[in-house]
Amino acid sequence: MATPENKLAFDGGWEYAPAPESTDHISIKKRYELFIDGEFVKPESGKYFETINPATEERLSRVAEASAADVDKAVKAARTAYAKVWSKMKPAERGKYIYRIARIMQERAREFATIESLDGGKPIRESRDIDIPLAAAHFFYYAGWADKLEYAFPGRRPKPLGVAGQIIPWNFPLLMAAWKIAPALACGNTVVIKPAETTPLTAMKLAEVIADAGLPPGVVNIVTGAGKTGADIVQHPGIDKIAFTGSTEVGRIIQKALAGTRKSYTLELGGKAANIIFADAALDQAVEGIVNGIFFNQGHVCCAGSRLLVQESVADEVIRRLKDRMATLRVGNPLDKNTDIGAINSRQQLETIQKYLKIGKEEGAEVYQSAARLPKKGFFCKPTLFTGVSQSNRVVQEEIFGPVLAVQTFRTFNEAIAKANNTPYGLSGGVWTDKGAKIFKMTQDIRAGVIWANTFNKFDPTSPFGGYKESGVGREGGLHGLDAYLRLEA
Ligand code: NAP
Ligand code: MG
Repeated sequence: MATPENKLAFDGGWEYAPAPESTDHISIKKRYELFIDGEFVKPESGKYFETINPATEERLSRVAEASAADVDKAVKAARTAYAKVWSKMKPAERGKYIYRIARIMQERAREFATIESLDGGKPIRESRDIDIPLAAAHFFYYAGWADKLEYAFPGRRPKPLGVAGQIIPWNFPLLMAAWKIAPALACGNTVVIKPAETTPLTAMKLAEVIADAGLPPGVVNIVTGAGKTGADIVQHPGIDKIAFTGSTEVGRIIQKALAGTRKSYTLELGGKAANIIFADAALDQAVEGIVNGIFFNQGHVCCAGSRLLVQESVADEVIRRLKDRMATLRVGNPLDKNTDIGAINSRQQLETIQKYLKIGKEEGAEVYQSAARLPKKGFFCKPTLFTGVSQSNRVVQEEIFGPVLAVQTFRTFNEAIAKANNTPYGLSGGVWTDKGAKIFKMTQDIRAGVIWANTFNKFDPTSPFGGYKESGVGREGGLHGLDAYLRLEA
Protein backbone atom coordinates (compact mmCIF):
# COMPACT_ATOMS: atom_id res chain seq x y z
CA MET A 1 0.00 0.00 0.00
CA ALA A 2 1.20 3.49 -0.71
CA THR A 3 2.15 5.21 2.52
CA PRO A 4 3.38 8.80 2.49
CA GLU A 5 6.82 7.47 3.39
CA ASN A 6 7.33 5.10 0.49
CA LYS A 7 5.56 7.52 -1.81
CA LEU A 8 8.32 9.92 -0.90
CA ALA A 9 11.04 7.34 -1.41
CA PHE A 10 9.80 6.34 -4.82
CA ASP A 11 7.66 8.03 -7.35
CA GLY A 12 7.84 5.49 -10.15
CA GLY A 13 5.60 2.57 -11.05
CA TRP A 14 5.53 0.05 -8.21
CA GLU A 15 5.25 0.57 -4.53
CA TYR A 16 7.48 -1.12 -1.98
CA ALA A 17 7.08 -0.77 1.75
CA PRO A 18 10.21 0.72 3.30
CA ALA A 19 12.65 -1.92 4.58
CA PRO A 20 15.12 -0.03 6.73
CA GLU A 21 18.12 -1.74 8.30
CA SER A 22 17.86 -1.26 12.04
CA THR A 23 20.45 0.67 13.98
CA ASP A 24 19.87 -0.86 17.41
CA HIS A 25 22.63 -3.44 16.86
CA ILE A 26 25.36 -0.82 16.47
CA SER A 27 27.07 1.49 18.88
CA ILE A 28 28.68 4.75 17.89
CA LYS A 29 30.61 6.56 20.60
CA LYS A 30 30.10 10.27 21.18
CA ARG A 31 33.79 10.80 20.57
CA TYR A 32 36.65 8.92 18.92
CA GLU A 33 40.34 9.28 19.77
CA LEU A 34 43.39 8.49 17.66
CA PHE A 35 44.63 4.89 17.53
CA ILE A 36 48.38 5.06 18.15
CA ASP A 37 50.67 2.34 19.49
CA GLY A 38 47.75 0.07 20.28
CA GLU A 39 45.92 2.66 22.41
CA PHE A 40 43.14 5.16 21.91
CA VAL A 41 44.79 8.49 22.68
CA LYS A 42 43.65 12.11 22.74
CA PRO A 43 45.02 14.44 20.05
CA GLU A 44 47.81 16.76 21.22
CA SER A 45 45.82 19.81 20.14
CA GLY A 46 42.66 18.70 21.96
CA LYS A 47 40.76 19.39 18.71
CA TYR A 48 37.88 17.28 17.40
CA PHE A 49 35.74 17.55 14.28
CA GLU A 50 32.23 16.36 13.52
CA THR A 51 31.25 13.56 11.25
CA ILE A 52 27.66 13.73 10.06
CA ASN A 53 25.14 11.48 8.38
CA PRO A 54 24.82 13.02 4.90
CA ALA A 55 21.27 11.67 4.54
CA THR A 56 19.99 13.62 7.56
CA GLU A 57 22.73 16.22 8.17
CA GLU A 58 22.74 15.09 11.82
CA ARG A 59 25.93 14.65 13.81
CA LEU A 60 26.99 11.06 14.38
CA SER A 61 30.10 11.60 16.43
CA ARG A 62 33.14 13.79 17.05
CA VAL A 63 36.51 12.59 15.91
CA ALA A 64 40.05 13.56 16.90
CA GLU A 65 41.99 15.83 14.58
CA ALA A 66 45.58 14.67 14.33
CA SER A 67 48.27 17.35 14.14
CA ALA A 68 51.86 16.98 12.94
CA ALA A 69 52.82 16.06 16.52
CA ASP A 70 50.30 13.19 16.56
CA VAL A 71 51.46 11.98 13.14
CA ASP A 72 55.02 12.03 14.46
CA LYS A 73 53.98 9.92 17.44
CA ALA A 74 52.21 7.46 15.13
CA VAL A 75 55.20 7.18 12.77
CA LYS A 76 57.55 6.57 15.71
CA ALA A 77 55.25 3.86 17.09
CA ALA A 78 55.11 2.27 13.64
CA ARG A 79 58.90 2.41 13.31
CA THR A 80 59.47 0.74 16.68
CA ALA A 81 56.87 -1.94 15.93
CA TYR A 82 58.49 -2.52 12.55
CA ALA A 83 62.04 -2.82 13.83
CA LYS A 84 61.36 -4.75 17.02
CA VAL A 85 58.35 -6.94 16.27
CA TRP A 86 56.63 -7.08 12.90
CA SER A 87 59.55 -7.41 10.48
CA LYS A 88 61.15 -9.99 12.80
CA MET A 89 58.04 -12.11 13.28
CA LYS A 90 57.77 -15.45 11.48
CA PRO A 91 55.69 -14.76 8.35
CA ALA A 92 53.20 -17.51 9.21
CA GLU A 93 52.55 -15.74 12.54
CA ARG A 94 51.92 -12.45 10.73
CA GLY A 95 49.46 -14.31 8.55
CA LYS A 96 47.56 -15.54 11.62
CA TYR A 97 46.97 -12.00 12.84
CA ILE A 98 45.72 -10.90 9.44
CA TYR A 99 43.36 -13.89 9.25
CA ARG A 100 42.08 -12.96 12.69
CA ILE A 101 41.26 -9.41 11.53
CA ALA A 102 39.41 -10.86 8.52
CA ARG A 103 37.36 -13.21 10.67
CA ILE A 104 36.36 -10.60 13.25
CA MET A 105 35.41 -8.23 10.43
CA GLN A 106 33.20 -10.93 8.96
CA GLU A 107 31.56 -11.59 12.32
CA ARG A 108 30.84 -7.88 12.72
CA ALA A 109 29.87 -7.35 9.08
CA ARG A 110 26.36 -6.12 9.79
CA GLU A 111 27.59 -3.49 12.19
CA PHE A 112 30.28 -2.34 9.74
CA ALA A 113 27.78 -2.13 6.88
CA THR A 114 25.27 -0.10 8.85
CA ILE A 115 27.89 2.37 10.08
CA GLU A 116 29.38 2.68 6.58
CA SER A 117 25.97 3.67 5.21
CA LEU A 118 25.24 6.06 8.08
CA ASP A 119 28.56 7.88 7.86
CA GLY A 120 29.04 7.94 4.10
CA GLY A 121 25.52 7.87 2.63
CA LYS A 122 25.87 4.78 0.45
CA PRO A 123 22.92 2.37 0.15
CA ILE A 124 22.97 -0.44 2.71
CA ARG A 125 22.65 -2.93 -0.14
CA GLU A 126 26.02 -1.77 -1.41
CA SER A 127 27.85 -1.64 1.92
CA ARG A 128 26.33 -4.99 2.97
CA ASP A 129 26.94 -6.86 -0.31
CA ILE A 130 30.07 -5.17 -1.66
CA ASP A 131 32.12 -2.99 0.68
CA ILE A 132 32.30 -5.13 3.80
CA PRO A 133 32.55 -8.63 2.22
CA LEU A 134 35.25 -7.36 -0.16
CA ALA A 135 37.15 -5.70 2.69
CA ALA A 136 37.19 -9.00 4.61
CA ALA A 137 38.14 -10.84 1.40
CA HIS A 138 41.19 -8.60 1.02
CA PHE A 139 42.40 -9.46 4.51
CA PHE A 140 41.81 -13.18 3.85
CA TYR A 141 43.59 -13.04 0.51
CA TYR A 142 46.69 -11.21 1.74
CA ALA A 143 46.84 -13.24 4.96
CA GLY A 144 47.43 -16.22 2.69
CA TRP A 145 50.42 -14.58 1.03
CA ALA A 146 52.22 -13.63 4.25
CA ASP A 147 54.28 -16.84 4.41
CA LYS A 148 54.51 -17.44 0.65
CA LEU A 149 56.20 -14.27 -0.55
CA GLU A 150 59.24 -16.06 -1.97
CA TYR A 151 56.89 -18.16 -4.11
CA ALA A 152 55.25 -15.00 -5.40
CA PHE A 153 58.63 -13.73 -6.61
CA PRO A 154 60.76 -16.80 -7.43
CA GLY A 155 64.50 -16.28 -7.33
CA ARG A 156 64.20 -12.98 -5.42
CA ARG A 157 64.40 -12.21 -1.74
CA PRO A 158 61.37 -10.09 -0.83
CA LYS A 159 62.01 -7.54 1.93
CA PRO A 160 59.49 -5.13 3.50
CA LEU A 161 59.87 -1.40 2.88
CA GLY A 162 59.36 -0.27 6.48
CA VAL A 163 56.68 2.21 7.56
CA ALA A 164 53.87 2.87 5.07
CA GLY A 165 51.87 6.11 5.18
CA GLN A 166 48.42 5.56 3.70
CA ILE A 167 45.77 8.13 2.78
CA ILE A 168 42.32 7.11 1.61
CA PRO A 169 39.12 8.71 0.23
CA TRP A 170 35.49 8.67 1.35
CA ASN A 171 33.84 6.62 -1.34
CA PHE A 172 34.77 3.13 -0.06
CA PRO A 173 36.09 3.90 3.42
CA LEU A 174 36.55 0.43 4.91
CA LEU A 175 37.36 -1.23 1.60
CA MET A 176 40.10 1.30 0.82
CA ALA A 177 41.52 0.79 4.31
CA ALA A 178 41.60 -2.98 3.62
CA TRP A 179 43.26 -2.46 0.20
CA LYS A 180 45.96 -0.50 1.94
CA ILE A 181 46.50 -2.27 5.25
CA ALA A 182 46.23 -5.95 4.26
CA PRO A 183 49.08 -6.15 1.69
CA ALA A 184 51.29 -3.83 3.75
CA LEU A 185 51.02 -6.09 6.80
CA ALA A 186 51.38 -9.31 4.82
CA CYS A 187 54.69 -8.03 3.45
CA GLY A 188 55.99 -7.13 6.92
CA ASN A 189 55.48 -3.37 6.88
CA THR A 190 53.81 -1.30 9.58
CA VAL A 191 51.22 1.36 8.87
CA VAL A 192 50.05 4.89 9.62
CA ILE A 193 46.72 5.41 7.87
CA LYS A 194 44.43 8.41 7.53
CA PRO A 195 40.75 7.96 6.61
CA ALA A 196 38.82 10.75 4.88
CA GLU A 197 37.41 13.52 7.01
CA THR A 198 33.77 12.75 6.18
CA THR A 199 33.97 8.97 6.73
CA PRO A 200 36.18 8.14 9.70
CA LEU A 201 33.82 5.85 11.63
CA THR A 202 34.44 2.42 10.08
CA ALA A 203 38.18 3.10 10.33
CA MET A 204 37.71 3.62 14.07
CA LYS A 205 35.66 0.40 14.22
CA LEU A 206 38.53 -1.29 12.39
CA ALA A 207 40.85 0.04 15.11
CA GLU A 208 38.66 -1.80 17.63
CA VAL A 209 38.89 -4.98 15.56
CA ILE A 210 42.66 -4.63 15.32
CA ALA A 211 42.88 -4.19 19.09
CA ASP A 212 40.58 -7.21 19.61
CA ALA A 213 42.75 -9.26 17.25
CA GLY A 214 45.69 -8.60 19.59
CA LEU A 215 47.88 -7.12 16.87
CA PRO A 216 51.14 -5.94 18.46
CA PRO A 217 50.98 -2.22 19.40
CA GLY A 218 52.14 0.19 16.69
CA VAL A 219 51.74 -2.19 13.74
CA VAL A 220 48.64 -0.29 12.59
CA ASN A 221 48.10 3.33 13.65
CA ILE A 222 44.99 5.25 12.59
CA VAL A 223 45.10 9.04 12.58
CA THR A 224 41.91 10.90 11.73
CA GLY A 225 41.94 14.42 10.33
CA ALA A 226 41.53 16.51 7.22
CA GLY A 227 43.86 17.15 4.27
CA LYS A 228 46.49 18.73 6.51
CA THR A 229 46.92 15.46 8.43
CA GLY A 230 47.42 13.70 5.07
CA ALA A 231 50.09 16.23 4.10
CA ASP A 232 51.81 15.72 7.48
CA ILE A 233 52.05 11.99 6.72
CA VAL A 234 53.41 12.61 3.22
CA GLN A 235 56.07 14.98 4.54
CA HIS A 236 57.17 12.95 7.52
CA PRO A 237 60.81 11.87 7.07
CA GLY A 238 60.20 8.58 8.91
CA ILE A 239 57.88 7.24 6.22
CA ASP A 240 59.27 4.80 3.63
CA LYS A 241 56.30 4.50 1.31
CA ILE A 242 53.17 6.50 0.54
CA ALA A 243 50.02 4.81 -0.72
CA PHE A 244 47.37 7.32 -1.74
CA THR A 245 43.89 6.92 -3.17
CA GLY A 246 41.99 10.08 -4.02
CA SER A 247 41.70 12.85 -6.55
CA THR A 248 44.19 13.53 -9.32
CA GLU A 249 44.54 17.06 -7.97
CA VAL A 250 45.78 15.92 -4.54
CA GLY A 251 47.76 13.09 -6.18
CA ARG A 252 49.74 15.74 -8.07
CA ILE A 253 50.50 17.66 -4.88
CA ILE A 254 51.72 14.46 -3.24
CA GLN A 255 53.86 13.45 -6.22
CA LYS A 256 55.54 16.87 -6.13
CA ALA A 257 56.14 16.61 -2.40
CA LEU A 258 57.76 13.19 -2.87
CA ALA A 259 59.94 14.10 -5.85
CA GLY A 260 63.59 13.75 -4.94
CA THR A 261 62.92 11.88 -1.69
CA ARG A 262 63.73 8.21 -1.16
CA LYS A 263 60.07 7.38 -0.47
CA SER A 264 58.34 5.06 -2.89
CA TYR A 265 54.70 5.59 -3.74
CA THR A 266 51.55 4.33 -5.38
CA LEU A 267 48.79 6.72 -6.44
CA GLU A 268 45.28 5.60 -7.30
CA LEU A 269 43.53 8.63 -8.76
CA GLY A 270 40.49 9.74 -10.71
CA GLY A 271 38.78 8.32 -13.76
CA LYS A 272 36.34 9.00 -16.59
CA ALA A 273 35.56 5.53 -17.83
CA ALA A 274 33.60 4.80 -20.98
CA ASN A 275 31.03 2.05 -21.17
CA ILE A 276 30.98 1.05 -24.84
CA ILE A 277 27.84 -0.58 -26.19
CA PHE A 278 27.99 -2.25 -29.61
CA ALA A 279 24.86 -2.90 -31.65
CA ASP A 280 25.33 -6.66 -31.22
CA ALA A 281 25.26 -6.47 -27.40
CA ALA A 282 22.48 -7.88 -25.22
CA LEU A 283 20.89 -4.48 -24.73
CA ASP A 284 18.91 -5.09 -21.53
CA GLN A 285 21.99 -6.46 -19.83
CA ALA A 286 24.01 -3.54 -21.12
CA VAL A 287 21.46 -1.06 -19.72
CA GLU A 288 21.69 -2.80 -16.35
CA GLY A 289 25.49 -2.54 -16.57
CA ILE A 290 25.30 1.17 -17.36
CA VAL A 291 23.01 1.75 -14.38
CA ASN A 292 25.27 -0.27 -12.11
CA GLY A 293 28.30 1.56 -13.50
CA ILE A 294 27.20 5.11 -12.78
CA PHE A 295 24.02 5.37 -10.72
CA PHE A 296 24.49 2.86 -7.91
CA ASN A 297 26.62 4.31 -5.13
CA GLN A 298 25.72 7.79 -6.45
CA GLY A 299 28.52 7.63 -9.02
CA HIS A 300 30.99 7.89 -6.11
CA VAL A 301 33.28 5.38 -7.78
CA CYS A 302 36.68 6.20 -9.25
CA CYS A 303 36.17 3.59 -11.98
CA ALA A 304 32.49 4.56 -12.54
CA GLY A 305 31.23 4.26 -16.12
CA SER A 306 30.60 7.98 -16.28
CA ARG A 307 30.63 8.07 -20.09
CA LEU A 308 28.40 6.03 -22.34
CA LEU A 309 29.52 5.37 -25.90
CA VAL A 310 26.75 3.69 -27.83
CA GLN A 311 26.78 2.54 -31.44
CA GLU A 312 24.62 4.85 -33.50
CA SER A 313 22.26 2.20 -34.88
CA VAL A 314 21.05 1.26 -31.38
CA ALA A 315 21.53 4.61 -29.65
CA ASP A 316 17.86 5.65 -29.58
CA GLU A 317 16.81 2.25 -28.34
CA VAL A 318 19.46 2.11 -25.59
CA ILE A 319 18.67 5.64 -24.40
CA ARG A 320 14.94 4.84 -24.34
CA ARG A 321 15.51 1.69 -22.27
CA LEU A 322 17.94 3.55 -20.03
CA LYS A 323 15.40 6.28 -19.28
CA ASP A 324 12.78 3.61 -18.50
CA ARG A 325 15.19 1.97 -16.08
CA MET A 326 16.16 5.31 -14.52
CA ALA A 327 12.49 5.95 -13.75
CA THR A 328 12.51 2.93 -11.43
CA LEU A 329 15.62 3.91 -9.46
CA ARG A 330 14.89 4.77 -5.87
CA VAL A 331 16.75 7.74 -4.42
CA GLY A 332 16.57 8.15 -0.66
CA ASN A 333 17.31 6.70 2.74
CA PRO A 334 20.63 4.83 2.49
CA LEU A 335 19.53 2.43 5.23
CA ASP A 336 16.49 1.28 3.25
CA LYS A 337 17.23 -2.04 1.58
CA ASN A 338 15.24 -0.92 -1.48
CA THR A 339 17.34 2.18 -2.06
CA ASP A 340 19.39 2.29 -5.27
CA ILE A 341 20.88 5.75 -4.91
CA GLY A 342 21.71 6.99 -1.43
CA ALA A 343 23.03 10.32 -0.22
CA ILE A 344 25.82 12.30 -1.82
CA ASN A 345 28.72 12.08 0.61
CA SER A 346 28.93 15.75 1.60
CA ARG A 347 27.47 19.15 0.89
CA GLN A 348 30.72 20.07 -0.81
CA GLN A 349 30.46 17.09 -3.19
CA LEU A 350 26.81 17.89 -3.91
CA GLU A 351 27.84 21.43 -4.83
CA THR A 352 30.53 20.07 -7.15
CA ILE A 353 27.95 17.90 -8.92
CA GLN A 354 25.51 20.82 -9.16
CA LYS A 355 28.28 22.94 -10.65
CA TYR A 356 28.75 20.34 -13.37
CA LEU A 357 25.00 20.16 -14.04
CA LYS A 358 25.18 23.88 -14.73
CA ILE A 359 28.31 23.55 -16.88
CA GLY A 360 26.63 20.80 -18.93
CA LYS A 361 23.66 23.05 -19.66
CA GLU A 362 25.93 25.95 -20.56
CA GLU A 363 27.84 23.69 -22.92
CA GLY A 364 24.59 22.95 -24.71
CA ALA A 365 23.95 19.42 -23.46
CA GLU A 366 20.42 18.12 -23.23
CA VAL A 367 19.73 17.20 -19.63
CA TYR A 368 17.42 14.41 -18.58
CA GLN A 369 16.70 13.58 -14.94
CA SER A 370 14.48 10.91 -13.49
CA ALA A 371 11.30 12.03 -11.76
CA ALA A 372 12.48 10.68 -8.40
CA ARG A 373 11.42 12.95 -5.56
CA LEU A 374 14.29 13.77 -3.23
CA PRO A 375 14.10 13.76 0.58
CA LYS A 376 13.83 17.27 2.03
CA LYS A 377 16.87 16.96 4.27
CA GLY A 378 20.27 15.62 3.40
CA PHE A 379 22.36 15.71 0.22
CA PHE A 380 20.73 14.00 -2.74
CA CYS A 381 20.93 14.12 -6.52
CA LYS A 382 18.65 12.65 -9.16
CA PRO A 383 20.18 10.29 -11.70
CA THR A 384 21.06 12.47 -14.68
CA LEU A 385 21.85 12.01 -18.38
CA PHE A 386 23.64 14.45 -20.62
CA THR A 387 23.01 13.84 -24.30
CA GLY A 388 24.10 15.90 -27.31
CA VAL A 389 27.58 16.40 -25.85
CA SER A 390 30.83 16.57 -27.75
CA GLN A 391 34.25 15.19 -26.93
CA SER A 392 35.71 18.54 -25.90
CA ASN A 393 32.92 19.32 -23.39
CA ARG A 394 34.02 19.54 -19.79
CA VAL A 395 31.29 17.08 -18.74
CA VAL A 396 32.88 14.54 -21.09
CA GLN A 397 36.47 15.22 -20.02
CA GLU A 398 36.30 15.89 -16.27
CA GLU A 399 35.46 13.63 -13.36
CA ILE A 400 32.13 14.64 -11.79
CA PHE A 401 31.92 11.91 -9.13
CA GLY A 402 28.13 11.90 -9.04
CA PRO A 403 25.19 10.04 -10.65
CA VAL A 404 25.69 11.86 -13.93
CA LEU A 405 26.21 10.12 -17.27
CA ALA A 406 27.46 11.78 -20.47
CA VAL A 407 26.18 9.99 -23.59
CA GLN A 408 27.94 9.96 -26.97
CA THR A 409 27.52 7.83 -30.06
CA PHE A 410 29.97 6.19 -32.46
CA ARG A 411 29.75 4.42 -35.82
CA THR A 412 32.90 2.34 -36.13
CA PHE A 413 35.10 0.32 -33.83
CA ASN A 414 38.00 2.74 -34.29
CA GLU A 415 35.84 5.74 -33.50
CA ALA A 416 34.79 4.08 -30.23
CA ILE A 417 38.44 3.47 -29.27
CA ALA A 418 39.47 7.01 -30.18
CA LYS A 419 36.67 8.52 -28.13
CA ALA A 420 37.19 6.17 -25.18
CA ASN A 421 40.89 7.09 -25.01
CA ASN A 422 40.37 10.80 -25.47
CA THR A 423 40.40 11.99 -21.83
CA PRO A 424 43.27 12.64 -19.44
CA TYR A 425 42.29 9.52 -17.47
CA GLY A 426 42.76 5.78 -17.96
CA LEU A 427 41.44 3.85 -14.99
CA SER A 428 38.77 1.55 -16.37
CA GLY A 429 36.36 0.83 -19.18
CA GLY A 430 33.52 -1.46 -20.20
CA VAL A 431 32.67 -3.17 -23.46
CA TRP A 432 29.36 -4.79 -24.34
CA THR A 433 29.26 -7.02 -27.41
CA ASP A 434 28.38 -10.52 -28.53
CA LYS A 435 31.76 -10.95 -30.26
CA GLY A 436 34.78 -12.24 -28.34
CA ALA A 437 37.17 -10.89 -30.97
CA LYS A 438 35.89 -7.36 -30.39
CA ILE A 439 36.40 -7.76 -26.67
CA PHE A 440 40.03 -8.84 -27.12
CA LYS A 441 40.78 -6.01 -29.49
CA MET A 442 39.11 -3.50 -27.19
CA THR A 443 41.07 -4.64 -24.14
CA GLN A 444 44.28 -4.13 -26.12
CA ASP A 445 43.38 -0.75 -27.55
CA ILE A 446 41.76 0.98 -24.61
CA ARG A 447 44.39 2.56 -22.40
CA ALA A 448 42.94 1.74 -19.01
CA GLY A 449 43.94 -0.46 -16.08
CA VAL A 450 40.74 -2.51 -16.00
CA ILE A 451 38.35 -3.38 -18.82
CA TRP A 452 35.17 -5.22 -17.99
CA ALA A 453 33.45 -7.23 -20.71
CA ASN A 454 29.67 -7.64 -20.57
CA THR A 455 29.74 -6.63 -16.92
CA PHE A 456 30.93 -3.65 -14.89
CA ASN A 457 32.41 -2.72 -11.51
CA LYS A 458 33.33 -6.27 -10.55
CA PHE A 459 36.10 -6.62 -8.00
CA ASP A 460 38.20 -9.40 -6.61
CA PRO A 461 41.25 -9.28 -4.32
CA THR A 462 43.23 -11.45 -6.74
CA SER A 463 43.12 -9.01 -9.64
CA PRO A 464 45.33 -5.95 -9.90
CA PHE A 465 43.77 -2.49 -10.12
CA GLY A 466 45.24 0.85 -11.12
CA GLY A 467 45.46 3.50 -13.76
CA TYR A 468 47.18 4.84 -16.84
CA LYS A 469 47.86 8.51 -17.53
CA GLU A 470 46.36 10.83 -14.90
CA SER A 471 44.59 7.96 -13.18
CA GLY A 472 47.66 7.03 -11.22
CA VAL A 473 50.91 5.23 -10.67
CA GLY A 474 51.31 1.58 -9.62
CA ARG A 475 48.87 -1.23 -8.96
CA GLU A 476 46.99 -2.53 -5.95
CA GLY A 477 45.39 -5.95 -5.55
CA GLY A 478 46.66 -9.42 -6.45
CA LEU A 479 50.38 -10.15 -6.79
CA HIS A 480 50.99 -6.64 -8.06
CA GLY A 481 49.66 -5.34 -4.76
CA LEU A 482 52.39 -7.25 -2.91
CA ASP A 483 55.10 -5.90 -5.17
CA ALA A 484 54.15 -2.36 -4.13
CA TYR A 485 55.08 -3.11 -0.50
CA LEU A 486 58.34 -4.98 -1.09
CA ARG A 487 61.92 -4.50 -2.07
CA LEU A 488 62.91 -7.46 -4.23
CA GLU A 489 66.56 -8.31 -3.64
CA ALA A 490 68.47 -10.53 -6.00
P1 NAP B 1 40.78 13.79 -2.19
O1 NAP B 1 40.16 15.09 -1.91
O2 NAP B 1 41.96 13.73 -3.06
O3 NAP B 1 41.09 13.15 -0.77
C1 NAP B 1 41.67 11.88 -0.61
C2 NAP B 1 42.38 11.81 0.71
O4 NAP B 1 43.50 12.69 0.72
C3 NAP B 1 41.51 12.23 1.89
O5 NAP B 1 41.82 11.46 3.02
C4 NAP B 1 41.94 13.67 2.07
O6 NAP B 1 41.65 14.16 3.34
C5 NAP B 1 43.42 13.59 1.80
N1 NAP B 1 44.05 14.85 1.42
C6 NAP B 1 43.48 16.02 1.00
N2 NAP B 1 44.44 16.93 0.72
C7 NAP B 1 45.64 16.34 0.96
C8 NAP B 1 47.00 16.77 0.85
N3 NAP B 1 47.33 17.98 0.43
N4 NAP B 1 47.97 15.89 1.17
C9 NAP B 1 47.68 14.63 1.59
N5 NAP B 1 46.41 14.18 1.72
C10 NAP B 1 45.40 15.02 1.41
O7 NAP B 1 39.74 12.78 -2.83
P2 NAP B 1 38.27 12.50 -2.33
O8 NAP B 1 37.42 13.64 -2.75
O9 NAP B 1 38.28 12.10 -0.90
O10 NAP B 1 37.91 11.19 -3.15
C11 NAP B 1 37.43 11.21 -4.43
C12 NAP B 1 38.54 10.98 -5.44
O11 NAP B 1 39.20 9.76 -5.19
C13 NAP B 1 38.03 10.86 -6.85
O12 NAP B 1 38.83 11.63 -7.70
C14 NAP B 1 38.18 9.39 -7.17
O13 NAP B 1 38.29 9.10 -8.53
C15 NAP B 1 39.37 9.02 -6.40
N6 NAP B 1 39.41 7.59 -6.13
C16 NAP B 1 40.32 6.82 -6.81
C17 NAP B 1 40.37 5.45 -6.62
C18 NAP B 1 41.35 4.60 -7.36
O14 NAP B 1 41.59 3.49 -6.93
N7 NAP B 1 41.94 5.06 -8.43
C19 NAP B 1 39.52 4.86 -5.69
C20 NAP B 1 38.60 5.67 -5.01
C21 NAP B 1 38.58 7.04 -5.23
P3 NAP B 1 40.21 14.83 3.63
O15 NAP B 1 39.19 14.04 2.93
O16 NAP B 1 40.06 14.72 5.07
O17 NAP B 1 40.33 16.21 3.13
MG1 MG C 1 30.12 11.32 7.67
